[in-house]
Amino acid sequence: ISTRERMYRRKSLQMRDQQQEWLDSPEGQKMIDFRKSLPAYKEKDALLKSLAQNQVIVVSGETGCGKTTQLPQYILESEIEAARGAVCNIICTQPRRISAMSVAERVAAERGEKLGESVGYKVRLEGMKGKDTRLLFCTTGVLLRRLLLDRDLRGVTHVIVDEIHERGMNEDFLLIVLKDLLPRRPDLRLVLMSATLNAELFSSYFGGAPTLHIPGFTYPVRAQFLENILETTGYRLTLNNQIDDYGQEKTWKMQKQTQGFRKRKSQIASAVEDTVESTDFRGYSHRTQESLSNWNPDSIGFNLIEHVLCHIVKNERPGAVLVFMTGWDDINSLKDQLQAHPVLGDPSKVLLLACHGSMASSEQRLIFDKPEDGLRKIVLATNMAETSITINDVVFVVDCGKAKETSYDALNNTPCLLPTWISKASARQRRGRAGRVQPGECYHLYPKCVYDAFSDYQLPELLRTPLQSLCLQIKSLQLGSISEFLSQALQAPEALSVQNAVEYLKVIGALDEKENLTVLGQQLSVLPVEPKLGKMLILGAIFKCLDPIMTVVAGLSVREPFLMPFDKKDLAESAKAQFAANEYSDHLTLVRAYDGWKNAERDQSGYEYCWRNFLSAQTLKAIDSLRKQFFFLLKDANLIDQQHPENCNTWSQDVNLVRAVICAGLFPGICSVVNREKSIALKTMEDGQVLLYSSSVNGSVSKIPYPWLVFNEKVKVNSVFIRDSTGVSDSVLLLFGGNVSSGGLDGHLKMLGGYLEFLMKPALADTYVTLKRELEELIQK
Ligand code: ADP
Ligand code: MG
Repeated sequence: ISTRERMYRRKSLQMRDQQQEWLDSPEGQKMIDFRKSLPAYKEKDALLKSLAQNQVIVVSGETGCGKTTQLPQYILESEIEAARGAVCNIICTQPRRISAMSVAERVAAERGEKLGESVGYKVRLEGMKGKDTRLLFCTTGVLLRRLLLDRDLRGVTHVIVDEIHERGMNEDFLLIVLKDLLPRRPDLRLVLMSATLNAELFSSYFGGAPTLHIPGFTYPVRAQFLENILETTGYRLTLNNQIDDYGQEKTWKMQKQTQGFRKRKSQIASAVEDTVESTDFRGYSHRTQESLSNWNPDSIGFNLIEHVLCHIVKNERPGAVLVFMTGWDDINSLKDQLQAHPVLGDPSKVLLLACHGSMASSEQRLIFDKPEDGLRKIVLATNMAETSITINDVVFVVDCGKAKETSYDALNNTPCLLPTWISKASARQRRGRAGRVQPGECYHLYPKCVYDAFSDYQLPELLRTPLQSLCLQIKSLQLGSISEFLSQALQAPEALSVQNAVEYLKVIGALDEKENLTVLGQQLSVLPVEPKLGKMLILGAIFKCLDPIMTVVAGLSVREPFLMPFDKKDLAESAKAQFAANEYSDHLTLVRAYDGWKNAERDQSGYEYCWRNFLSAQTLKAIDSLRKQFFFLLKDANLIDQQHPENCNTWSQDVNLVRAVICAGLFPGICSVVNREKSIALKTMEDGQVLLYSSSVNGSVSKIPYPWLVFNEKVKVNSVFIRDSTGVSDSVLLLFGGNVSSGGLDGHLKMLGGYLEFLMKPALADTYVTLKRELEELIQK
């Protein structure tokens, strides 16, 4: 045998000894006892046996039964015991960063190790992985990018795809790729793990792969719907109560306070039922989304939640409370409100925690730990707490019935982000979270008739999101024709969505006319940001104004650092206006705020600066670290002068150049500006009239002295809104809007000409003709 094999063998034996040592230690013993108590343990042998005999297996089981933490570990342990420890290479994907990180940490602890030894994780732009790491938890996106570099996943022995029931876009995509890969890699093993029971769908997708179910024990959970909750908690619905936030306004407005409770209750039920009938929200068509969103605005009934929580804290037996909210904004506002409450805000009685994707790990641990006696733990979470994390001591669940869901309106080519009703499967899942340690209670804050009208399962993400990044990935993975490839998905997306995405990629110059990847497209596919943001980064490097552009892109991919506390809105707005500095650009406003913070950090006064200017230090730090990653990636791609990296900032102070690069990146996200006497009319090519979010610096001005605004994103809420924008001039749009590389200058001008004509800017038509002539003359010379 070769030296190499000998080394592997020695290493494998070492790993075996080390594992045994841990199992023999008292802490290891304790851990093993805990692990043996999980339902998955009873199925361990059956699982391993089935995996030895089949290339693909599907495993389903209740959340918390030990799929994520145990199954990958069983495989690792059995490989180590068979003295193959050093050659196995197990990858387990997670749909979310936080679960990849927290699960890896947990599994390392269960093995008595530190992260980065045999167990590691890798998420976008961050990771903890050593040379001996044999079990890697990563996000699905990370595995997809790895496939980009190594189509056959050489060296990988096992792939475990977790939480497939969620039907995320990346997971559905990965399944197509893996299905294609399996015949080429007969030794590769694939495990699909799912929480709910539609395992047959996946099994048949993989040609009848065997399905193993882990029977789990959960205690019964009593479900209460709104009508019972009102009865048990004695909450009285009043006119204009916060409950209206649920949008059942019409219904409740009909009630008179003098009417008896029971009568009111039946009225609610029937009125809601009418609404349900008439809006038919069983379907997910766009129209339905719209009527639902009218029916049901963003925020949820905080006062009702507060009331229910108060009821639990005062009257119910001990046990943690898990509250499902729609999003981070809601969680934060509710947290603020609860903290001001005499009972719920009392830290000697209540431990109030928020559960969020990017929270610090110390805070994370608090969520899992059992609090001291007499202290009531209340965790506010998004639907992430439905399946990917398990908090053991939860006895009470409060379910607002909604989740923010992205959807995609292919007809208008517009992404929508709306709080939508969850599915029956989700509601059941949320309820189940209460029965982990003892019988539980679940408060569904909506009437039973609304629940009855929920759809059974959520629509897969592939069918409700724009497909641009995905199409780019298909091309760079050389998976052939985009539409043909996507037609092999578990459920294929609409042809129109695919067509829109391909058109878009052509417009920005990532694909040529024949749908082949361009040089730009190739570069974009390796940058871990949306295609347009990648394009902006590349242009920022080429035009040597990288610093501000990196800030803009990082800001757009993290979130805004500007805080708007409800009670200090005016102060916060005027702080932001300072940064806006009459540039008519949200993007440049962010650059100013960030640069100021960087300077303050240098004088050790970063926190003070944030405090004074209503900025989130945490977000600024996230932007900062993302910027650093961008820099290295661009350097790797040879877009930055290796000898003189500082050259990439020669023109960073030139605001108009930065504006132009922003325009080049965001095109065709553009609308025309018409300043009217009292208002400003904005118009895009597709939607006609659009509105600015009030948080935009351009949202509150009376006049915008630019003929155009470029924007990152439009979102359909009730009307179409654009979130952030930058004003650009005619000539900047003519020179930087569109794509010079694919159709040549002429094609570029033609396309732009089409846009301009459409938007009917007669004044610009002249400029266009002149510019075109000048440019043509220039070229002839
Ligand atoms: P599943 O993937 O089937 O939902 P997990 O493997 O995530 O289940 O969790 C199994 C059990 O491990 C949970 O019920 C919980 O008791 C325990 N567990 C998981 N993560 C942690 C953690 N970070 N800290 C403490 N216990 C944990
Ligand atoms: Mg899991």
